[in-house]
Amino acid sequence: MLEIRNLEAWYGESHVLHGVSLDVQDGEVVTLLGRNGAGKTTTLRSVMGLVPRRTGSIRYQGRELIDERSDAIARCGIAYCPEERGIFASLDVTENLLLPPVVQPGGLDLDTIYGLFPNLKERARSQGTKLSGGEQQMLAIARILRTGAKLLLLDEPTEGLAPVIVQQIGRTIHEIKARGFTVLLVEQNFRFAQTVADRHYVMENGRVVDMVPNDQLGASMERLHEYLGV
Ligand code: ATP
Repeated sequence: MLEIRNLEAWYGESHVLHGVSLDVQDGEVVTLLGRNGAGKTTTLRSVMGLVPRRTGSIRYQGRELIDERSDAIARCGIAYCPEERGIFASLDVTENLLLPPVVQPGGLDLDTIYGLFPNLKERARSQGTKLSGGEQQMLAIARILRTGAKLLLLDEPTEGLAPVIVQQIGRTIHEIKARGFTVLLVEQNFRFAQTVADRHYVMENGRVVDMVPNDQLGASMERLHEYLGV
């Protein structure tokens, strides 16, 4: 579904990605692991067309995106949920959900969203500012499910959340996968990554240095310990 080959990316003069290659198959949940500054966020932002200078190849469903703008990339059915979540503080939950444009058929309707996220239903009339961190994260994920995007790029969805909320996010990701969505997520929380993902890529210094299927994690633990310090 997504094929990244020899991706290089720059912020100004700063050369951040040095030939990243990875694949995500239709229906998979794949994590990008790695220490701070390894280039995980930049990889997601590059797929979404948000890094101004990038070279190499990013193919989505066979279509080359490396020179496309982010609005065209969104219309292909890719959605990005940034670490800062980006929900509208002055709008309530329902308004936040109704705001994003539907880019492709197959986006979930409000009833389905509220079935998936009962907490959000209870808070339907609450302003963005009144939501807890966990509710904000749920809303940020719910919002991109509305758009019809099939590939969801999630940047550290568990960042700063209490363990019980992290478990809820995990259940949400399982449900999203069961509904046929594909997820590429950046994660610092290794335990969480283990509970949701099919495969893991490890990044270091702007490169992918390892790929581990989730069912082979046990055998790879020593290596991962070196990369991640877990
Ligand atoms: P983190 O978890 O800390 O976000 P990461 O693996 O996601 O880590 P990136 O955010 O992709 O890493 O950052 C990779 C490198 O690019 C870092 O050295 C970072 O300082 C640099 N970088 C990130 N954003 C910018 C920017 N807007 N301008 C300049 N350099 C940046």
